[in-house]
Parts: sequence; structure tokens; C-alpha cells
Amino acid sequence: MALMTAKEYIESLRKLNTRVYMFGKKIENWVDDPMIRPSINCVAMTYALAQDPKYADLMTVKSSLTGHTINRFTHLHQSTEDLINKVKMQRLLGQKTASCFQRCVGMDSFNAVFSTTFETDEAHGTHYHENFKKFLTMVQDNDLTVDGAMTDPKGDRSKAPHDQADPDMYVHVVERRPDGIVVCGAKCHQTGSVNSHWHIFMPTISMSEADKDWAVSFACPTDAEGMYMIYGRQSCDTRKLEGCSIDVGNAKFGGQEALVVLDHVFIPNEYIFLNGECEFAGMMVERFAGYHRQSYGGCKVGVGDVVIGAAALAAEYNGVEKASAVKDKLIEMTHLNETLYSCGIACSCEGCPTKAGNYQIDLLLANVCKQNVTRFPYEIVRLAEDIAGGLMVTLPSQKDFESDTVVGNNGETISEICNKYFAAHEGVSTEDRQRVMRFLENMCLGAAAVGYRTESMHGAGSPQAQRIMIARQGNIQGKKQFAKDVAGIKD
Ligand SMILES: Cc1cc2nc3c(=O)[nH]c(=O)nc-3n(C[C@H](O)[C@H](O)[C@H](O)COP(=O)(O)OP(=O)(O)OC[C@H]3O[C@@H](n4cnc5c(N)ncnc54)[C@H](O)[C@@H]3O)c2cc1C
Repeated sequence: MALMTAKEYIESLRKLNTRVYMFGKKIENWVDDPMIRPSINCVAMTYALAQDPKYADLMTVKSSLTGHTINRFTHLHQSTEDLINKVKMQRLLGQKTASCFQRCVGMDSFNAVFSTTFETDEAHGTHYHENFKKFLTMVQDNDLTVDGAMTDPKGDRSKAPHDQADPDMYVHVVERRPDGIVVCGAKCHQTGSVNSHWHIFMPTISMSEADKDWAVSFACPTDAEGMYMIYGRQSCDTRKLEGCSIDVGNAKFGGQEALVVLDHVFIPNEYIFLNGECEFAGMMVERFAGYHRQSYGGCKVGVGDVVIGAAALAAEYNGVEKASAVKDKLIEMTHLNETLYSCGIACSCEGCPTKAGNYQIDLLLANVCKQNVTRFPYEIVRLAEDIAGGLMVTLPSQKDFESDTVVGNNGETISEICNKYFAAHEGVSTEDRQRVMRFLENMCLGAAAVGYRTESMHGAGSPQAQRIMIARQGNIQGKKQFAKDVAGIKD
């Protein structure tokens, strides 16, 4: 089948019976809902760019399973070049949307589940790898968007799944039948969940024998019986309902997260990828997290490019772009952003084949990449706020800039007063100044800060999760030996 156009993708969502709840009620036409639509536009961009001949080499690729041309977001990486192209594609999407475009979690789960099912089958004689290949072929041929669902609610973080007061704190099997399993539980913070055709569920932590019923992975259509989503709020999100697109900051695009609930959902055998083989839960988590930590060396960098550009525009509009201190801040922002990109590229260049044949990133470097991502975007927005000045948080509304209400003794309207006092560098319209200030507000502390700041901190695992991996991969013993050899210390 052909690749979907952006329009076809949006229309395909209407055909699903996805159950979405927001502000305490069911949303029937969620595709056109003004709170949700920017996040759909964002995923649609992954389809639109794949149709553009200018980006065909980056956005499309030959499937290793069928030989068909597919969207790279559904691809199994076949080389280090593929891994590098993945990062470049993500940077491009970040530049075009300045938002989280949501389709990476699915791509990262495909690559993690493909290799983990291969090794699980090798150890247990199961048939998960064939199940997964059939599922992915369907995804590739129909150009579907898939949510990678890993993070469970986790209840008391000090307790294992089987020790929780409520067993639903981690997704688990409640019934095993000859034709499949019945599952219960939920996944939190699910990026692009509502906008996906299917979901892949994976465990969120390593598990022991006692957690067997929680060591489960499977695919499930987004509108499966028993499955529903409760939409996550974002800072300043109701600005989308005010009819003032400038005040939204980025009215076209946005991210999306939701709580996904599985209430006794039946999963047929053919969609099961792990079912009790608890020692492989950790491998799936580690591999997914590795790919996802690489991803942030692309997507956050693309968004960072737009933030840096907006800060430079704010400086230009304010008339300070030639000041050496401003130039230096833009250099620092660029240095930080390109350092993240270097990490994304480096962990891709150092990738290697898995037993199943697809390529995985260098785990140590991917974890270093994400550890930097937990810090540098925060410094980049600090510098952007410094350059922008206070107006990014104190500017009157778009409605004031458009108001005919008379306020001045000489009959001046609110609009005239705003345009008078918020004029800056000659030749720059106050509307452009409003736009750039509101955009920066959105990126630094509005709805888009979810994707640029807090997602940088916790998405793909909180900072400590990377430090644990860095400790494991860092080879301190080997480094001690280097020191002994050079210093002449004998054992
Ligand atoms: C914007 C956004 C998008 C996301 N998208 C997705 C997605 O698409 N799919 C998905 O599966 N997940 C997604 N996530 C989830 C993300 O992976 C988690 O937020 C992350 O793993 C942290 O989990 P948590 O939020 O439950 O925080 P917590 O686990 O509660 O962590 C909070 C703090 O407690 C510490 N902590 C936690 N447990 C322990 C412990 N046992 N001992 C000591 N310290 C501990 C952590 O290190 C951290 O500092 C997303 C998150 C965000 C913010």
C-alpha cells in the first residue's frame, strides 16, 4: 500500500472508535477539537514531509521486511547510516513543528521489540518474533502511527509490581485463555496515544519470577474494547479556546500526552510479544530506553533550533542583535544544542547489529546524550528568556492589540496605545514582536514547555535512570587497569 498523505492520516483517525475523555466528559469529535487538533497536525507533518521529494531520502526507506517503500518512522534500522538518518529526520521534524511530533515512541518500540522477541524465542522456543514481524509488516504497509506505551503508574515506587497494594499499578495479565490473554492496568504520560492507530505495550522495569504476570508485551488497536484515554492538560492550554492564535504562541502544532486505561482488554495470541518470560522484561526496557534516549539527540535539537532562532529574532526586534553579549548568548545556545546533536549522532555512528539483525545504538553514548538533554534545554530557555526581556510574560493579549475601546484623553484606542508603547526597532511591526514573544513564552513555560523542558527531564527516563546505565556501561574496572598500566602498578 502507498504512504498516506497528511490528509489521509487525519481522515483515518475519524474511522477509529477511540474513546477520549477531557475536562470530565467524553469528546466525540476529538479530531476537530481545538485543544487536540494541533497535536494531530504535528503527527500529520511526519506524513506530509514523506510526500515531499525534497525530503524523500530522509523520510522514506526500503522495508527490510517487504522491500516496499515505507515511512522511516516504521523502519527497522539496518545500518549505522539508518541510525544517523533517524536522528537527522527527528531534527528536521523538530524544526518544522517546534513541538513533540509523537511518532518516535512507536519507532523506538518497533526496534526494541524486534530484537528482544528474537532473543526470547531463542531462549524459550516461543513465537513472539514471528508475531511481531507480521504485526510490523501490517504497520509498514498501512503507514500507521503506533504509540510506544511503557510507563506504568507504578504506585509506591519502592515496591515491585507483585508487591503493590493495587495490582493494576502495572499492566498485567488477569486471564490466560487458549486464544489469548486478558489484560488490565494503565500507562501514564502516553505521547500521541489518542493520535495513534495502534499501541505497543511494554513492561517499564526489570522483573523477577514473582512478577511473571506483569512481564507482558503486546500490540492492541487504539479503539480496542475496554481501552480509553483521559487527556493530559498542558500549561496555558485553554488559550486554544480563546480564538487568539497569537496568544497561543504556536497555534498550528503541539504535543499530546494521555492516561491510557486497559479495562479487561482481550489480546489475541498473534499480538503477544512477551507473556511471563520475566528475564526479558529488562532487555526490552533497556533497548527501548536506549533508542529513545538517542531520539532526544534529534527531536529536542530541532526544537532548540527554533528556540534559538526566536531568541535571535527577539534581539533583532528589540534592536540589540549587534550587542556582543547577545551574540555570545546565541553562541552558547548553539554550542549547547549542537552538543546534544553530537551525542545523538555519536551513539548512532557507534551502533552495532543485534542478534535479530536490526541495528541498535551505543548504549553508553545514548545515555550520555539523554543525560545532557535533562540539562541543556533548561539552559537554552534560560538564555532565551534573558534575551527576550520581560515582555514574553507581561504582554497584553491579542484582543488588546485589536481593541477599538477608547482609553486616552485624545480618543486613543487600546490598540493604538499598545502599538505605541510596544513598538521597538524601527520597521518591525508590533504584531511580529507579539508573535515572537508569545512563541518564546509558549516554548519556555507554556504548553510547548511540556515537550521541550519536562519531557527533556523525564521522557525516556528521569536523569537517575541514565546515571544507572552510565555506571553499568562506564567500565570503571577497565579504566583502573589503564591507570595501573601507565602508573606502573602491579597486581
Ligand atoms: C512529556 C512526557 C512525555 C512522555 N511520553 C511517554 C511515552 O510516550 N511513553 C511512555 O511510556 N512514557 C512516557 N513518558 C514517561 C516517562 O518515561 C516518565 O515520566 C519517567 O520514566 C519518569 O517516571 P515518572 O514520571 O513516573 O516519575 P517517577 O518515577 O515518580 O520519578 C520521580 C523521581 O523519583 C525518582 N525515583 C523513582 N523511583 C525511584 C526509586 N524506586 N528509588 C529512588 N528514586 C526513585 C526518579 O529518579 C525521579 O527523580 C513521558 C513523560 C513526559 C514528562
